[in-house]
Amino acid sequence: LRNLHGGTVVASYPFDDSASHVMQGYYSRSVDDNLFKHLALTYAKNHPVMRTGEPKCPDTPDETFEDGIVNGAKWYDVPGGMQDYNYLNGNCLEITMELSCCKFPPASELKKEWDYNRESLIAYLEQVHIGVRGYVKEATNGTALPDVRIMVAGINHNLTTAQFGDYYRLLLPGTYNVSAIATGYMSMTVVGVQVVEGKATELNFTLAPLGNEPTGGITVPFTPTTTEARPPAQPEHQPIQPQDFRHHHYNDMELFLRRYSNGFRSIAHLYSIGKSAEDRELYVMVISDNPTVHEPGEPEFKYIANMHGNEVVGRELLLNLIEYLCHNYGSDPEVTQLVNTTRIHIMPSMNPDGYEIAREGDVRGYTGRNNSNNFDLNRNFPDQFTTITEPRQPETIAVMNWLKSNPFVLSANLHGGSLVVNYPYDDDKQGRTEYSKCPDDKVFKQVARAYSQENALMHKGHPCEDLYQSEFFEDGITNGANWYNVPGGMQDWNYLNTNCFEVTIELGCVKYPKAQHLPLYWDQNHRALLQYIHQIHRGVKGMVIDIKDGTGIPNATITVEEIDHQITTHLAGDYWRLLVPGTYHLTASAQGYNSVKIYATVPEEGVELVDFRLTRMRSDPNGQAPMDPRATQDPAEEVFQSFIKDLSLGQGLEQLVQSTVTESSFRYRRYKELSEFLRGLTFNFPKITSLHSLGQSVEYRTIWALEISNKPDEPETAEPKIRLVGGIHGNAPVGTELLLEFAAFLCINYGKNPTITRLINETRIVILPSINPDGRELAREKQCTSTVGMTNTHGKDLDTDFFGNASQRVVEAQPETRAVMDLILERGFTLSVALDGGSLLATYPYDKPVQPVENEETLKYLANVYARNHPKMHLGDTGCSMGNIPDGVLRAAERQSHMGSMKDFSVDFGHCPEITVYTGCCLFPPAVQLATLWAENRKALLSMLVEVHKGVRGVVKDKSGKPIVGAMIVLNGGVRVFTAEGGYFHALLAPGNHNIEAVADGYQQQRQEVVVSSYEAASSIIIEFDMDNRIFGLPREFVVATAAASMTALVVTACIIWCVCSAKSNQQKDGFHRLRQHRDDYEDEIRLTSMGSKKSLLSNEFQDESESDEDALYTNADKL
Ligand SMILES: [Zn+2]
Repeated sequence: LRNLHGGTVVASYPFDDSASHVMQGYYSRSVDDNLFKHLALTYAKNHPVMRTGEPKCPDTPDETFEDGIVNGAKWYDVPGGMQDYNYLNGNCLEITMELSCCKFPPASELKKEWDYNRESLIAYLEQVHIGVRGYVKEATNGTALPDVRIMVAGINHNLTTAQFGDYYRLLLPGTYNVSAIATGYMSMTVVGVQVVEGKATELNFTLAPLGNEPTGGITVPFTPTTTEARPPAQPEHQPIQPQDFRHHHYNDMELFLRRYSNGFRSIAHLYSIGKSAEDRELYVMVISDNPTVHEPGEPEFKYIANMHGNEVVGRELLLNLIEYLCHNYGSDPEVTQLVNTTRIHIMPSMNPDGYEIAREGDVRGYTGRNNSNNFDLNRNFPDQFTTITEPRQPETIAVMNWLKSNPFVLSANLHGGSLVVNYPYDDDKQGRTEYSKCPDDKVFKQVARAYSQENALMHKGHPCEDLYQSEFFEDGITNGANWYNVPGGMQDWNYLNTNCFEVTIELGCVKYPKAQHLPLYWDQNHRALLQYIHQIHRGVKGMVIDIKDGTGIPNATITVEEIDHQITTHLAGDYWRLLVPGTYHLTASAQGYNSVKIYATVPEEGVELVDFRLTRMRSDPNGQAPMDPRATQDPAEEVFQSFIKDLSLGQGLEQLVQSTVTESSFRYRRYKELSEFLRGLTFNFPKITSLHSLGQSVEYRTIWALEISNKPDEPETAEPKIRLVGGIHGNAPVGTELLLEFAAFLCINYGKNPTITRLINETRIVILPSINPDGRELAREKQCTSTVGMTNTHGKDLDTDFFGNASQRVVEAQPETRAVMDLILERGFTLSVALDGGSLLATYPYDKPVQPVENEETLKYLANVYARNHPKMHLGDTGCSMGNIPDGVLRAAERQSHMGSMKDFSVDFGHCPEITVYTGCCLFPPAVQLATLWAENRKALLSMLVEVHKGVRGVVKDKSGKPIVGAMIVLNGGVRVFTAEGGYFHALLAPGNHNIEAVADGYQQQRQEVVVSSYEAASSIIIEFDMDNRIFGLPREFVVATAAASMTALVVTACIIWCVCSAKSNQQKDGFHRLRQHRDDYEDEIRLTSMGSKKSLLSNEFQDESESDEDALYTNADKL
């Protein structure tokens, strides 16, 4: 607001003063006066008070403005205003809006002010698109010309073009003559330019240089200069060469990348894969015709530079490459074809922190080589021969995750300090300097030569004669280990852990050359950089698809006979196999499919297309009905299949996480708060939750179980049931908080997020957040290693208290253990996950030593799924002095072997696979870390809700269609599950082929083969028993009657034992345990005598009986 003047409501426009500085009433007109009036009117006429021109302000009640606008100087002469400065010294037109009579009105009026001004602000904003706009380019090489004057005849006010040669000249509708003028160029005028209302007219200029002055001439002397003059591929066409030859520090580089991603949106997309140790973004520019997505069939290429911070040539070359690709796309055939057929990822700096301390002119120094934690990133990757003990760095972790989530095919990693292309392997077992051949040696030599051949100096093979006189590399390439050993390098990790082939390129003997030499590096390498990208289009590529429905098969393997290196297909079934010319035997295999073998000939030039069509396996040795998992599907099931498939592949879960809300102030909750939190959930979400007490701790705290399901109080036996358990050790309460958060997360998103809603509708989720509440009360925050609170009040580590077999039990089970054991023994659970702390990994049974678990493959697979969906766990760096654990997954006994663990009990007696997840090294980390821990585990926890739907499921019936309850399903001759109400069963299995047998008393055993996939939901199978009319040579009815009689007898006996025991003991519970023990003994016996079908049926009846009694003691436990 102006000096000496109260507030008012008006739009005023330039000029604000005049040469004479007459105080009032002198109209000071700019050459764009009509335009300014139009702009001021646009604002005023959309403002209900301003447009009246009569603000009626208390200070000046009589002041009026025609149409609500006024020329600044006419109203009041103000020298030194911002508005006029904008117009006279910049390209910008500015007007001044006075918005209210009162300068600082009460807050209550702000809403009214917003309503008055909203339309005006938007209408005014739209005016930026009127007039003429366009670009000014150089005629010979097409580069943008900044600072070119744009003149409109008759209006003596010039604009200049901005950085990209772009300009915006606001004009009122009409016909104009517009000129572009720049020193050193022929000026250009376009006459009769039509400007219409509402939309800017596009007008581009191309200015030819005056005379024949060469542009971008390089006159820098450089020894040795050996760039050969090469005839251009197409003499009539000259690609546009890059111009930006200088060293780009982080901020400069960031600006450069943003400029290109904004300026070339259709082909350039900038993203970050994470942050450096000092929080700098690890940027990647992706250049392709559809840069933001992987197009099935189009291979992904990458260049990574500046991994060693002081080796900077690659960094600048890659920025130049971005310039080159962007400017030549659409005009240069080679660039256009490369960009259209390849997705090219360019990471100019993997070590931006190191770069910032490196120094220009460094020839072979080390300052800035390492990251800011002083680790060499190219010694920081897991190695096949050596254990890397140095902690994995954030840059390394980011790159590893990046490589795992994109189907890269070919890559190069740009270094400096020598001049050679180096290919795998980089080391060998003995650490000797000798050739360490990888299975794809021929391919690597071919791609390495493709680069070195285009760099004449490199190709000669004498890299740095001044520094290392005797060094010679034939053709300018070398096997890594044959040069010198590099354990922990990125290149080998690519080859051994992904589908990507990577080489390491040394670009020159000087690590950090002077900026003036950069153009020469471009000259020497730019053909090689392009030629290397072309190598991605050699060998064999194609699709692996299901012959029946034509859908792609993800994660299928492509094997080449005699090359011991498999390639896997991406999500759509697409694959690429780099190969040198020749004829090969290729085999495509996928779980549940018959393999297909094909001969293929790789041509001298280009790529051979080979598609594989695979048939589902339908083998069945017993000649029974073949089990095509898709045969029995109804449409609803098919929809669910694709729902699970979407969540299992690619970014499905990631997208789910992104699309869900999570709102919590993370903190630790002790027992009282925890109970309130759980009650709060059931109060707020009564339709999908139900809270039960499983029993009480030694100090009478309740062991809570929260069920989340669409019908929480109904036993929906057709749905899989998952158990999530936290806080078995009270001193490791992270799991408790994660489970509370997870429960809230599920509830809050129910009905809002369709995926979460569906998962809850189809799954029964039982959460036991804290099973050792007494220990938890004693534990203290920030105690990372303390054992205070680990045990229950009796000093018992609950994870050593789960014994199913009475003979192994020395003393009575702790009440906490008892409560959880009873829940486990109810069976019916498909999967269980326990959360604990003290390392960063997932373990699977057994905890007890010696014995391998029967379904080890399945349990290990489940642990792997969790670890894989955790951003750090799967990298295997436990970070808590446990060294590297491959994939972050370990058999529990190898971590710390002990008897009586919960998961062993769950597997042996609950017939439910259970894994234990250790969420971090610190047992009780500070509360501020909870948000991070939640972010790390959210996706993995969700993955378990998806995983529980896989495996095999079905219904067991007799011939008449009557479901058979308590039938035993034997998996691969070992692990058993039992059918529930309705004859339902569900068992998780590792992907692959499995044999299942169904056994029920009085029926003939049934055997079937099933195929389990890693990304498909279990499809429902129906096992139908033939009625066996005569059992043991007796009529069926008779046997059933006898069995019923024996059962009655047993029940009576049990009651008698129970009564006697009750009488003997003061505690009702004791007598109870005897019964339990009986049953436990029974279980063991069953395990020993395989296929004890009759007994199992009996034991089931027996169990039912005992549990009905138990209800009196443990309220509601049966509802779970
Ligand atoms: Zn290096």
